[in-house]
Amino acid sequence: MVLASFSPLSSVARLGARSSAFQSRRFLAQAVSATPKIQDQAKASSYKVVVVGGGSAGLAVASTLSETLGSKAVAVIEPSDVHYYQPLWTFVGAGLKTFDESKMAMSEVMPEKAQWIKDSVASFDPKKNTVTLANGESISYDYLVVAAGIQVNWGKIKNLPETLGKNGVTSNYSPNSVEKTDEFIKAFKGGNALFTMPSTPIKCAGAPQKIMYLAEEQWRKAGIRTKTDIKYFTGLGKIFAIDKYANELLKICKARNLNVNYFTDLAEIRPDSKEAVFNVLGGEAKGTQLTLSYDFLHVTPPMGAPEFIKSSPLSNADGWVDVDKETLRHNKFQNVYALGDCSSLPTSKTAAAITSQSAVLKNNLLGDIFGDKQVAKYDGYTSCPLITGSDKLILAEFSGYTGQPQETFPFDQSKERLSTYLLTKEIIPEIYWKSMVKGTWDGPGKYRKLFRSA
Ligand SMILES: Cc1cc2nc3c(=O)[nH]c(=O)nc-3n(C[C@H](O)[C@H](O)[C@H](O)COP(=O)(O)OP(=O)(O)OC[C@H]3O[C@@H](n4cnc5c(N)ncnc54)[C@H](O)[C@@H]3O)c2cc1C
Repeated sequence: MVLASFSPLSSVARLGARSSAFQSRRFLAQAVSATPKIQDQAKASSYKVVVVGGGSAGLAVASTLSETLGSKAVAVIEPSDVHYYQPLWTFVGAGLKTFDESKMAMSEVMPEKAQWIKDSVASFDPKKNTVTLANGESISYDYLVVAAGIQVNWGKIKNLPETLGKNGVTSNYSPNSVEKTDEFIKAFKGGNALFTMPSTPIKCAGAPQKIMYLAEEQWRKAGIRTKTDIKYFTGLGKIFAIDKYANELLKICKARNLNVNYFTDLAEIRPDSKEAVFNVLGGEAKGTQLTLSYDFLHVTPPMGAPEFIKSSPLSNADGWVDVDKETLRHNKFQNVYALGDCSSLPTSKTAAAITSQSAVLKNNLLGDIFGDKQVAKYDGYTSCPLITGSDKLILAEFSGYTGQPQETFPFDQSKERLSTYLLTKEIIPEIYWKSMVKGTWDGPGKYRKLFRSA
């Protein structure tokens, strides 16, 4: 029953009210797009709204905006031919889904009424309302939405780029190596298995450990667990930010003999001797290095703000697009918004968070365009499905702003369950492709109210 209520079709129907609000604005939009200004703009590479990035966040926003504002009013600047549903990569790395299921041609998911500019943004000039593309062309806008994701800094770990995908070294964080994770887990014959998580912000902070639980299960089933030593290294001081879930995860690690180490950041891989070198960031050994041999090494690389944002007037001191944490509007430039992994929003960076963020952003940006003063506010909602086996999962849902759980279902989500596993593996991907990238899924907030008020 619970799962059935999550079907994409019912979600679309339940979102009817919001869609019709957006659609009523479409009449107004016809008037807007009929003005010479917009038509001239289209010819002169100028748009009512320019969206930078056609990932999870960019498409969720561009779909609704282009539907509401009409053809040629919205451009999406996106260099990639392929759109990935990255949350599936944990399943792909464990051989529970195929890589093909995680991807779609960009042309298939790009909103029909949006103009796809197949290039990268090289720089921003928010005072002139323009962005410059890698090919040197300038694009101007009335409103800008930045949704360019996080930058994965492979090169910050010595020897990682040349080692990745070889001799037991892998990562679920790259489309080029995620299938290697499955291959290496299956080929493993026992020995030292290391899993790492950096001290930097990353996308999906649970993914570095999810793959450890899935690998451990496979090695147990293959009868090699007794000759396998599994260690988890995190650059942070906790296994998970929210205590309610961290406590359960620690119990699982203890029961399954998974050795958790804090304040240890992978710095170097020595492929010839098959050694991993860690910087110790805290405790008595702070400032020293720890060297361990490995037979299997799953790396979560350091990540950070994209360089082209960091060097722009849009960034805050840490390089993220500097937006108000509730309205998602830029703190200096009123016609600029940002969401998703590249934004300064102080919550955990996930696709789930984007479901709430995109609804708020669309409301507020369309409000600017149509003079609607009802401001929506983002509450920091995010979620991390902590897969702990091939039939169970802890569904962490919380606000990154309050640090408190914000669970949808009327049961304790910190307990491992088959139902939430199936929801994450089979139903949420459907919602993603059929509803989220089409702009009609704004997260489980409505269901939470329903279940929690019952
Ligand atoms: C292994 C793994 C597991 C995960 N598991 C989960 C999970 O279980 N649940 C969950 O909710 N989330 C999960 N995530 C996180 C989720 O995938 C991201 O948070 C989400 O994709 C972020 O969306 P985004 O649009 O901000 O960035 P992305 O989806 O990464 O999209 C950014 C887009 O911007 C484009 N771009 C980059 N630079 C430029 C430029 N200069 N100009 C124009 N375009 C540019 C890129 O090509 C890309 O298409 C996981 C991620 C990984 C890698």
